[in-house]
Amino acid sequence: MRGCKIQRICLKFVAMELTNAISRVRSAELFAEAKKYFPGGVNSPVRAFKSVSGPPLFIKEGKGCRIWDEDDNEYLDFCGSWGPLILGHNNDAIRNLIIETVSRGTSFGTPTRLGNELGKLILDNNRYVDKIRFVSSGTEAVMSALRLARGATGRNKIIKFDGCYHGHVDSLLVKAGSGLATFGVSTSAGIPESFAQETIVLPLDDPEALSEAMEKYGDDVAAIIIEPMPANNGLLLQRKSFLECLRLKCYKYGSLLIFDEVINGFRVGFEGAAGYYDIQPDIITYGKIIGGGMPVGAYGGSHELMGHIAPDGPVYQAGTLSANPVAMAAGYAALQQLLAPNFYEEMAAKTQVFARQIEDYGQAKGYELSITTVGSIFWLAFSTETIRRADQIDANSMEKFKVLHHELLQRGVYLGPSGYEVGFVSAAHTTADLEQAAAIICECLDIVFSS
Ligand SMILES: *Cc1c(COP(=O)(O)O)cnc(C)c1O
Repeated sequence: MRGCKIQRICLKFVAMELTNAISRVRSAELFAEAKKYFPGGVNSPVRAFKSVSGPPLFIKEGKGCRIWDEDDNEYLDFCGSWGPLILGHNNDAIRNLIIETVSRGTSFGTPTRLGNELGKLILDNNRYVDKIRFVSSGTEAVMSALRLARGATGRNKIIKFDGCYHGHVDSLLVKAGSGLATFGVSTSAGIPESFAQETIVLPLDDPEALSEAMEKYGDDVAAIIIEPMPANNGLLLQRKSFLECLRLKCYKYGSLLIFDEVINGFRVGFEGAAGYYDIQPDIITYGKIIGGGMPVGAYGGSHELMGHIAPDGPVYQAGTLSANPVAMAAGYAALQQLLAPNFYEEMAAKTQVFARQIEDYGQAKGYELSITTVGSIFWLAFSTETIRRADQIDANSMEKFKVLHHELLQRGVYLGPSGYEVGFVSAAHTTADLEQAAAIICECLDIVFSS
């Protein structure tokens, strides 16, 4: 603790120098230009920094746990391209295999050996899926999984949970209407209410609401979809008993259980949340890490269930660039490294130490905050309560996050630009990097709580 204090004092001087030096003029100029080309200047909304202040950073380079913006500022990165970069930026093995592969062409629209290799690597090391289909994004994986569930059951309705994100799939961009178990109301323009009505939205962590909804609609429910470790709206870790309850209800009513593991998959273990909790869902979706930084998604299930997918079965799903060799190479080179002994144990251990360091500091100072972690995922909440449901997050506390985010940028630490986003530790973050980041975060918390 003493060493930490000395380091903190030293860092204060470094940070003060940084504060004076930092300029984001170039990013601001590029953002102004980008607004001419793209809605809101971005190609994915949360990149626009709407929930925090200032223009977004235009990043030009990354190496390990660090990124550099167009103004040559350096940041310790905890966003990791929103989750995919579990090995950090510009990982040598991934880059080398991409270069080797791309030198022979980028896509042939045919099966390739590399596709087989990635498929085998995944299936040989995952007890929860027998067969998978590669697609090009998490959204596409979820969309296809829903179609499979509907095609296999001949039913239409889907149950989802408030606080879970499943990509921009029409029928899942819905929120709860009024009442406990209600049909969804779309959260985006352009989604017919008739689509939204096929979705039932329930609160997380509420077995009674689930029982009630299944009693009422169970015979029409094709699937229950959940992020088993909801990590797109804070980190709303569920009780294992709740996930088991979903499993049993699906068996009882003949509905399928979909684990959307686009964010947890390969993050909390090679077998993701299914392996972590040892719960067998019917369909699992993957994305993010599976592509090693390239656009890849996948969905998988039993041989029997996947037999419904074209060309074996009647559920149509296709993709021009699906499983292209460059993406498969990146995924293969990434996932192979995750199988190293103790990889996940070490990631979890260092993330724990990092989080406790900040939490202990906050506690000693009497700050209202806590850090939830699982594996190498962490979420800083301005609350000391255990939060398991979306409605328990205090929207007002996001003002504090805004201040924190700004102060961290000034000192070279990059978190995702919203207090609802989780942070990711990568294998490239060393203990020293994490200690440095923790010290800077503590210093910024002093500012947050003094204003
Ligand atoms: C990121 C994410 C998606 C969407 O994936 P994209 O590749 O952005 O389309 C879907 N589900 C979950 C759980 C995610 O975290």
